[in-house]
Amino acid sequence: MLATLRRIVQEVNAARDLEQALSIIVTRVKQAIKVDVCTVYLFDPTRDAFLLMATDGLNPQAIGRVFLARGEGLVGVVGKTEEPLNLDDAPADPRYRFVAETGEAYYHGFLGVPIIHHRKVMGVLVARQHDKRRFHDDEVAFLLTIAAQLSGAIAVAAANGGIQGFSSDQEGGELRPIVGLPGAPGIGFGTAVVIYPPADLGAIPDRRVSDVEGEVSVFRAALEAARNDIRILEQRMGDSLAVEDRALFNAYTLMLSSPSLENQTVERIRAGNWAPGALRDTIAEHTRIFDQMEDPYLRERAEDVRDVGRRILARLENVPQDQRQYPERTVLVGDEITASMLAEVPLDRLAGVVAVRGSGSSHVAILARSLGIPAVVGLSELSVGRMDGRELIVDGDSGTLHISPPDRVREEYLLLAQEEQRLAAGLAELRDLPAITPDGIRIPLYANAGLLSDINPSLHHGAEGIGLYRTEFPFMIRNRFPSEEEQRQLYRQVLEAYAPLPVTVRTLDVGGDKMLPYFPIHEENPFLGWRGIRITLDHPEIFSGQLRAILRASIGLDNLRLLLPMISNVSEVDESLRIIRRIHQELHDQGEAVAMPQIGIMIEVPSAIYQIDTLAPRVDFLSIGTNDLTQYMLAVDRNNARVASLYDSLHPAVLRAMMQVVVTAQRCGRAVGVCGEMAGDPASALLLLGMGVSNLSASVPSLPRVKWVIHNFSIARARDILDEVLAMEDTRSIRRHLDGILQQAGLGSLVRSGR
Ligand code: PEP
Ligand code: MG
Repeated sequence: MLATLRRIVQEVNAARDLEQALSIIVTRVKQAIKVDVCTVYLFDPTRDAFLLMATDGLNPQAIGRVFLARGEGLVGVVGKTEEPLNLDDAPADPRYRFVAETGEAYYHGFLGVPIIHHRKVMGVLVARQHDKRRFHDDEVAFLLTIAAQLSGAIAVAAANGGIQGFSSDQEGGELRPIVGLPGAPGIGFGTAVVIYPPADLGAIPDRRVSDVEGEVSVFRAALEAARNDIRILEQRMGDSLAVEDRALFNAYTLMLSSPSLENQTVERIRAGNWAPGALRDTIAEHTRIFDQMEDPYLRERAEDVRDVGRRILARLENVPQDQRQYPERTVLVGDEITASMLAEVPLDRLAGVVAVRGSGSSHVAILARSLGIPAVVGLSELSVGRMDGRELIVDGDSGTLHISPPDRVREEYLLLAQEEQRLAAGLAELRDLPAITPDGIRIPLYANAGLLSDINPSLHHGAEGIGLYRTEFPFMIRNRFPSEEEQRQLYRQVLEAYAPLPVTVRTLDVGGDKMLPYFPIHEENPFLGWRGIRITLDHPEIFSGQLRAILRASIGLDNLRLLLPMISNVSEVDESLRIIRRIHQELHDQGEAVAMPQIGIMIEVPSAIYQIDTLAPRVDFLSIGTNDLTQYMLAVDRNNARVASLYDSLHPAVLRAMMQVVVTAQRCGRAVGVCGEMAGDPASALLLLGMGVSNLSASVPSLPRVKWVIHNFSIARARDILDEVLAMEDTRSIRRHLDGILQQAGLGSLVRSGR
């Protein structure tokens, strides 16, 4: 049975569309349990009924014509009760309903199981037998297993218009919204333009060449032409991009100018392969390293390398550069959208960006944010092939895509878009004002940095310093540990860019989901494993090198604060302090005028919460890392989409834990900041004000919204709201309550944009 099951699942997953997927299911299941008929009904929300979608054995004319409401007939009963129904004589059951179109009166044995995806009934899978037959437990279990395994694939296909495709009067009509990840905030309306990679490297065969040097020249000319293309694209983006985001194009140019790319390809050509084949192998070699990385940000870089490869190939194949006319409001849709694809569209025509792959940290999202174009990414349920020319609404705040929306949805979104415009205008005015509550309390707003924006002052977004500089990224993008001098220069740039404003540099926090390609760690349970301070204390040579680099970088600036990640016990703090003091002393002895920085610890592991009274007096400040704290408190992996709905920092337990941290730290006379994503969520920021945290550090784009909250709520009011919330039992009520308060305060747009 297991082998059959695996085969069916494999075949279904490889199916072209819903029709083919369902047809495979009914045929294979019919064979596997030797029944006369197998059918699939799927729930059609527009009709609020189960629609016959595929059959092997019944009258095929009935497909797309037979509907059964919830509770109607045996299929409707399975759909309603969400449980299997096994009857040896179906027509004898009082709930049986005769359906003439299918010719089912001739069938007695009935087995129906629900197809459930994320707690929702997607449909019903039915097996029928001509004679009376009571299905064996094994067979019921088999059908249930098939339905459970295939529900995901069915959900994807159904989301892409499968059901509507079957019912003739709905073709091309509204599809249900698809939820992905917010890429860049805002609402975009426009026409989908589907974009594909310009040339397919994977399809290139090997071919021998006789004129080797001629081929080398052809390759070098293509390389130069590709470099030129990138220059043109960069110019086209021009001033629309922030300086740090232009770095993306520099990265492309660097890759195109990389001696290894050129030399390795030339070597392969000289070994006898033609230029496209040689290029294919070089690009594959370069991408392999990135592809294997666990860190999502670094995996994205593999796509940049592939994109560069495709561009050179397009030049080798003499493919003319895209001269396509873009509609006035273009929503660019693609499986993967690279920086250069984005740059192909004239900016005044770009209304939105939609990508099947990617996350909030992928380049397309970073660029879209920088350009102010709404984007939704990670839409794994989207079938790109069906999108071209469709009207779309890109809701970059909630990460939702509306396909061919009805007027009522469009009108609702138009209102929201107007509200967002008003909000944006208001936020722009706030940019250079300090973050002060109406009752005069100043809450410095800092930026989280360390991704592309390594040396991005972010000052134009109103940041008053860096509250969290993640040093792991410079470690991740190399193929060895960065040298002490390399690190010193990098940290110096960051510290200098902000001086005299404070910069909080966190020591290396790798492990968990952040892996170094040259320092692999294989663990069953990496988030509970060797990560953060645990690694650096076990490798004092790496820790000391980094500390020396950070301290030396700060000479003469005096704006450094040091932060230690993943602290879970007292000895980790003591040991770290001992090492920091020793390094400081050594530098001093060597004549380097290094000031002793303020030292803080991250509170992100539950054990630390219950030892604040012992930990806090040892250091100068505390910073709550709500990303990890939430995952450890709730036992919910922060990167697992399956349990993403359970991951919410507004869980009462997380709030109470944070309260305890703040109260105890204040008793010890230590300041507490918050540097996780929670600090960037307007509704949560309201509670953090009420708790009495002394500063907030969040991703740069969310700072203006948080500042708006600070300007609109007094600390006294925030305390009252916190008290109300602490009396609540569950996350949903808390969220709803806070949303209501923001709405009442006239900040309705923040309710949507903060997620
Ligand atoms: C956190 O855990 O909240 C945090 C800020 O650190 P990181 O997201 O880098 O783990
Ligand atoms: Mg963390």
